Amino acid sequence: MEFWDVTDFSKVSADIEPVRRAADIILSGGLVAFPTETVYGLGANALDGNAVSRIFEAKGRPQDNPLIAHVADMSWLERLCLDIPPVAYELCELYWPGPLTLVLRSSGVVAKEVTAGLDTVGVRSPNHPVALALLKACDVPIAAPSANTSGRPSPTAARHVYHDLNGKIDALLDGGRCSVGLESTVLDLVSDVPRILRPGGITLEQIRKVCKDAVYDKAIFGEVPKDAPVRSPGMKYRHYAPRAKVIILRGDSSDVAAYIREQSVNDPNIAVLCYDEELPLYGGLNAVSYGPRSRHDILSYNLFSALRALDETGAETIYARCPEGSDTAVAVENRLKRASAYHIIDVK
Ligand code: AMP
Ligand code: MG
Repeated sequence: MEFWDVTDFSKVSADIEPVRRAADIILSGGLVAFPTETVYGLGANALDGNAVSRIFEAKGRPQDNPLIAHVADMSWLERLCLDIPPVAYELCELYWPGPLTLVLRSSGVVAKEVTAGLDTVGVRSPNHPVALALLKACDVPIAAPSANTSGRPSPTAARHVYHDLNGKIDALLDGGRCSVGLESTVLDLVSDVPRILRPGGITLEQIRKVCKDAVYDKAIFGEVPKDAPVRSPGMKYRHYAPRAKVIILRGDSSDVAAYIREQSVNDPNIAVLCYDEELPLYGGLNAVSYGPRSRHDILSYNLFSALRALDETGAETIYARCPEGSDTAVAVENRLKRASAYHIIDVK
């Protein structure tokens, strides 16, 4: 696997050697992992079905889970999509490049492997200098899911990609840590009302500036039965999960800390994922904090790397504190609840 350090963004453009070589790999049917502002992506030429199939193999991803087509700018919408509503352009004006994926009717230009046989396609323009330089150098849309083993916490640093995919992909561009840390918001513009299929960096409140009737899909808040029809196939799989079992604990900080101490008497392999304010309650235990309770942007930035770090300590159970609320908290809550397979205990 080729590896390039492109963390000095002041030198990044479509013309620098690592980006040109990465683009050559994409255009000759290879796989390149690259940084975006959300998480690292594992990219292939979205117009080349064979190349896209290799993404599914490398990740062990279920065949019916579609990929997002990444594009350099809005001008690609008309090439990749049909029946584009005016709100799509308004959303792009406001939030592209950025962590917003629009699901629209596919024109059939991207390979069928990208859409997993659906008649819709998810399209997004990532807000990251390396991703944009690569898209410009290739001049094709790049199909890219998160660059991790399917089901694992998404990669927010190059070493996470290396850990999961070394030997399975052709190249990795290291652009440092991802600034958002959670995947993009997926907004379905084909259904009866604009519907958020996956919460992410762009909030419902932000989308409602353009689409007043936008709603969350119900599947965001609960477990989806295995055989239920869902609009976003990715939602039905176990996801974002570390090797250790994750259990969410709700309740007052002190009650939760007392509960964890009690558990730790009989079980030495437990770990704690808590808020910064709570860390002093866990002296002597394997605890990491992932940000202040009310800073949902910091919690989202740190969540996946904290889950991976706790896995590396050999923990078997992770007791986690999980924010609830509106804005970015919805995205953090969604990832953590799915990582726990909805295993939640109310501590009193
Ligand atoms: P990942 O690339 O791993 O972040 O996963 C992409 C997510 O976008 C998955 O949850 C997909 O289900 C969703 N997605 C991509 N394309 C579509 C589409 N055409 N319709 C609905 N959801 C989509
Ligand atoms: Mg993923």
